[in-house]
Amino acid sequence: MAGICAIVTGGPVSRRANLEDEKGESVARRPWVDNEQCISCGICIANCPQVFRFDAHGKSECYNPAGAAEDVIQTQAVELCPVSCIGWEEE
Ligand code: SF4
Repeated sequence: MAGICAIVTGGPVSRRANLEDEKGESVARRPWVDNEQCISCGICIANCPQVFRFDAHGKSECYNPAGAAEDVIQTQAVELCPVSCIGWEEE
């Protein structure tokens, strides 16, 4: 469970992203799921359903980064993910 996933969690990652929510509004940073590490437990989706959902492959994806406050996403999804595969993208 260590490896790159632990590096990504809770801190900025080098991926560049279009930092906009689903309405096209800018957000300071957005959560990002390493879907290769996701075990589809559903914790992040249950706790932040306005932010995360299952994709077509049954993995979590962030579909609305502005769907909850950052501290809620951090404490209810990032910190509770059992495989630590949710991080933040920053510009
Ligand atoms: S909490 Fe982590 S492992 Fe569980 S569905 Fe969300 S991203 Fe996947």
